[in-house]
Amino acid sequence: MSHRVDARSQLRILHVDLDAFFAAVEVLDEPALAGRPVVVGGSGPRAVVASCSYEARRFGVRSAMPMLEALRRCPEAVHRPPRMARYREIGRAFLALLRAAADVVEPVGLDEAYLDLGGNARSDRQVEALAQGLRRQVATELGLSAAVGVAAHKHVAKLASRAVKRLPPAVRGERGILVVPPEAEADFLGPLPLAAVPGVGPVTAARLAAVGLHQVADLRTVPRTVLRRRLGQAAGDRLFALARGQLDEPVRASRPRRSISKIVTFPSDVEDRERLRGVVAVLAQALGDQLADEGLLARSVSVGLRDPAHRDHHRTSSSDAVGGAWSVGRQALALFDRLPGLPAVRAVEVSVQGLRPRNEVVQSPTLPFGCGDGSTPGGVAVGRRRPPVSLDAVASKLRTRFGPRALQPASTLPEAGARGVAGGVVGSLGLRED
Ligand SMILES: [Mg+2]
Repeated sequence: MSHRVDARSQLRILHVDLDAFFAAVEVLDEPALAGRPVVVGGSGPRAVVASCSYEARRFGVRSAMPMLEALRRCPEAVHRPPRMARYREIGRAFLALLRAAADVVEPVGLDEAYLDLGGNARSDRQVEALAQGLRRQVATELGLSAAVGVAAHKHVAKLASRAVKRLPPAVRGERGILVVPPEAEADFLGPLPLAAVPGVGPVTAARLAAVGLHQVADLRTVPRTVLRRRLGQAAGDRLFALARGQLDEPVRASRPRRSISKIVTFPSDVEDRERLRGVVAVLAQALGDQLADEGLLARSVSVGLRDPAHRDHHRTSSSDAVGGAWSVGRQALALFDRLPGLPAVRAVEVSVQGLRPRNEVVQSPTLPFGCGDGSTPGGVAVGRRRPPVSLDAVASKLRTRFGPRALQPASTLPEAGARGVAGGVVGSLGLRED
């Protein structure tokens, strides 16, 4: 058989990990914090550090450290409570950016993901340029920095991005990328402590340490049976293969969900129907935005009310595909109007079912420009062949940029008197009122 020169790069796996994510978002939203030690986390006696800036790390502050300990080590640290909704919002934008770059994206939490570039013909240099481009995009579009590991194998890519993170920012410079080619994997992995290997928890690491196995290289000295005996067959085989460069785990696209639901339980029962309507509107909007962000359409929408005796009253639509705040909001409010009047309500739920990826057909209302004669009423020329612009997509973008209240259908706006409750819901969803 003749040897064929293959121009395709074996470096098809990227691991992209945002730096000090929660703390970085706090600095992003409050630029006066730049350069200062920032710790994010709760404030009770049991609170721990959820995230901390590099400036705080210099004082020995680490994630998962008790907050009291962190503030003792670094009394001048700026302490902020976590704003999960804001982090989720940026996490979704991060994911969208990655999905535009690769066929298969496996998110891990909000701030990191594996990318599989697939079998496209790319040279090593092109892959590296793509990784650099992603970092630049994360910086310019999200205002955040990321570490990127590039390798032929998933676990190596992860360990590469982690190695980048270990470097102090001054040493790391602007690159923030580590490429580990297949021929360098053995040298790269060998000295790493086993506890650092993805999939090896503290218990496994302790079991291996008990028989004198501390580093990846140590695993190469023992037969498979020893690892199986210590760890069980699956885990033993995995580490056996990993140590010998034979572990090739696939990047898996996030598993599609069948439904999403948002529930609010009131601190005390609510009687005012208009206020409930306002709550349904806010929940539906959040759901619709989530569908749009994740590129999903739903087959049905449900609205449920729970009465003080814990009886549930539901209405479900099963019409066309819905997605986006506009259409989910409209359907949810129509369903709410068909629910019986209850003397008091304990909890409200809005959910969507039958989720599937949004296809080419745009089902939500469209804006007049982009599908007509090539110009908007305002006279701004747009491409003739541009596809119709979805109203939901525009509304979702505006909200991402200007906050959850930036644009809402008038019909979904709570009455003046309901603002308090809607605000409470916004608070309990973790969304910030602006
Ligand atoms: Mg991170």
